[in-house]
Amino acid sequence: MAGDRPQDFIRQIVTRDVSAGKNGGAVVTRFPPELNGYLHIGHAKSICLNFGLAEANGGLCNLRFDDTNPSTEEVEYVRSIENDVRWLGSGWGDRVFYASDYFEQMYEYAVALVRKGKAYVDDLSAEEISEYRGNFTTPGRNSPHRDRSVEENLDLLARMRAGEFPDGAKTLRAKIDMASPNQNLRDPVMYRIVHESHHRTGDAWCIYPMYDWAHGLEDSIERVTHSICTLEFENHRPLYDWFLDALDVYHPQQIEFARLNLSYTLMSKRKLLELVRRGAVDGWDDPRMPTLSGLRRRGYTPDAIREFCARIGVARADSVVDVAQLEHAIREDLNRRAARVMAVLRPLRVVVENYPEEQSEELDAVNNPEDPAAGTRKVPFSRVLYIERDDFREDPPKQFFRLALGREVRLRYAYFVKCVSVVKDPSSGEVTELRCTYDPATRGGDSPDGRKVKATLHWVSAEHALGAEVRLYDHLFAKPDPEEVREGQDFFANLNPNSLERVADCRVEPSLRGAAPGSRFQFERLGYFCVDRDSTAERPVFNRTVTLRDTWAKIEKRQS
Ligand code: ATP
Ligand code: MG
Repeated sequence: MAGDRPQDFIRQIVTRDVSAGKNGGAVVTRFPPELNGYLHIGHAKSICLNFGLAEANGGLCNLRFDDTNPSTEEVEYVRSIENDVRWLGSGWGDRVFYASDYFEQMYEYAVALVRKGKAYVDDLSAEEISEYRGNFTTPGRNSPHRDRSVEENLDLLARMRAGEFPDGAKTLRAKIDMASPNQNLRDPVMYRIVHESHHRTGDAWCIYPMYDWAHGLEDSIERVTHSICTLEFENHRPLYDWFLDALDVYHPQQIEFARLNLSYTLMSKRKLLELVRRGAVDGWDDPRMPTLSGLRRRGYTPDAIREFCARIGVARADSVVDVAQLEHAIREDLNRRAARVMAVLRPLRVVVENYPEEQSEELDAVNNPEDPAAGTRKVPFSRVLYIERDDFREDPPKQFFRLALGREVRLRYAYFVKCVSVVKDPSSGEVTELRCTYDPATRGGDSPDGRKVKATLHWVSAEHALGAEVRLYDHLFAKPDPEEVREGQDFFANLNPNSLERVADCRVEPSLRGAAPGSRFQFERLGYFCVDRDSTAERPVFNRTVTLRDTWAKIEKRQS
């Protein structure tokens, strides 16, 4: 499918480079997550792009943990990231690298820049550096320490590394141009002093490299050919190039693309972490989270996410993608692969008066009309059934064709039934039971006399059904842009109070007994559902992945 699509501008660049024999025709890309959270659907776009480019060109893609910052790294994040990348694509994430493995090499490069007179040790504090840097309208001023001799700089750098100075006392800075219109070039900091242990290097280092200094070196050391990043790094490219040129080392090409934004969704790990920390969600893999682990728990498949990424494409202009498009992708995929079953979320008891007590029978039901190979299964029928409370109305409005007093409907795969009386709770007036009759001649769902009914309902047999909990999800945020808030508020003000509804007393057909966590089903007429890990064999818990209503298909229809 993806092969029929026009190439985006990055694929075009890479194809051109390969045919021109640049880098000997090699393609090496990388996906370089920082260790400060779980991966989200935006990262999936980058993963699909980078691993996809390598795959399409017989190249390699590295999973590189950008672990240059000692204070935020966590082993838990490493595990989750590896797991998510592998889940998204087979063979992806097999080449695993750590930026911290290059610390010694980076230090040697820093010494080389000092020797060339292109880097110096500064004594200014972080506040002073930022004050000296100037701003958009004012050029920066040189630090009083900018013209230290090479010998003095070498000595101070060695002593920084040896731990002679406290945090923040000194920095190593590149000597570029304090008046540059690009503020990234105003003598950026390369190393800062942080006396903290690192998850891999322990206490070997007390100076840590800054992102802009480290990133190009990591790419160069790994001989990455195309270093693909999001648009906010466009202004950093001159610095990326400056470092590699100044060192005269292998020089990858940085290319920027627009990051993915999704309506009703936040896409920053820092903000997602806030949601977790403040308990707005039930952890990183809460099925309402846009994280890959959340989407997986919700029932999303890797195929659907990859197809979504292929469809949204790669562009150079920022935009917001309608979350309905993501839902459309999973609906299409599950329509093909999910087995159909019957489940009643809000049960209303139905007694079939002319069906013998003690009797039951098994009816044939189709597992997946989209996939004949999926076969059929048996569904038990008996005198007492449950149907969906919503499928009955005492005073049916005009367009309501489902069950009502005196009306006949089809029970899917079973019989025609007709409602003959209604039992109510005398105190509340609530309907507690329907009394029906069935027509034995309609077994399987058709009437030999050609009689028509206007509705087909799903149902379960009361005696055979399994109790279940079903969790219905809606958007986590009530506004398309969660950041659209009044002054003094933050995105927490836009949390949707109805994003999770737990329906505790559902009844599902007995074939779902023991269904494995992660398995996915279509509940007929209701939507797609995935077995949650909170399930037990006797009491499954289901997450609603998505309803059957396709809002994206409607949007597309309107647009065409
Ligand atoms: P966040 O703001 O969520 O923390 P980040 O860019 O800081 O994102 P990194 O871990 O540094 O996160 O990202 C790893 C890679 O994923 C980078 O190459 C980055 O450009 C890419 N990436 C991150 N977010 C998106 C997004 N929304 N769309 C596309 N690519 C993304
Ligand atoms: Mg980041």
